[in-house]
Amino acid sequence: MNRISWDQYFMSQSHLLALRSTCTRLAVGATIVRDKRIIAGGYNGSIAGGVHCSDEGCYVIDNHCVRTIHAEMNALLQCAKFGVPTEGAEIYVTHFPCLQCCKAIIQSGIKTVYYAVDYKNHPYAIELFEQANVKVEHVEFDNMPNEAKEQEKRAFVTDLIEKLADTMNESEIKRLYNESDKLFS
Ligand SMILES: [Zn+2]
Ligand SMILES: [Zn+2]
Repeated sequence: MNRISWDQYFMSQSHLLALRSTCTRLAVGATIVRDKRIIAGGYNGSIAGGVHCSDEGCYVIDNHCVRTIHAEMNALLQCAKFGVPTEGAEIYVTHFPCLQCCKAIIQSGIKTVYYAVDYKNHPYAIELFEQANVKVEHVEFDNMPNEAKEQEKRAFVTDLIEKLADTMNESEIKRLYNESDKLFS
């Protein structure tokens, strides 16, 4: 019998959680694990009961969506809410954590970070993880290849269209964006 590894199992959970994201900028999922048990999970979203970016559009200031609580933060706050210790725990995230989440992860006593996708890996975050003796490991996620690569594919196509924008007229560009939307919806 072919059993999936613990790493793939927990990473699958994070990718599943990412599908619940409400911020359209990036769908991220995070799973906190202790002694091979899932103790909390989170995804990119608004405060409970708040409006969703997916309904109202993102609230962007300085190129960041300020409405969203990051997946890692949501998972950690779930532990705070229910009084679950995070000391010595591990976290599985779909994307390399941002600087804010990096600091929260360190401060909560988490000792290992597994991430599936490199995402603007901030040199200071890498430095802080090293300094705090938090192990950071890249785990290639391979159980849902189509879903896992969808965001990268979309980002790549968007990037290509943006590069073409200078050489084409507006209606042609619009048509390309529409076709890409249809393809990825
Ligand atoms: Zn947003
Ligand atoms: Zn973050």
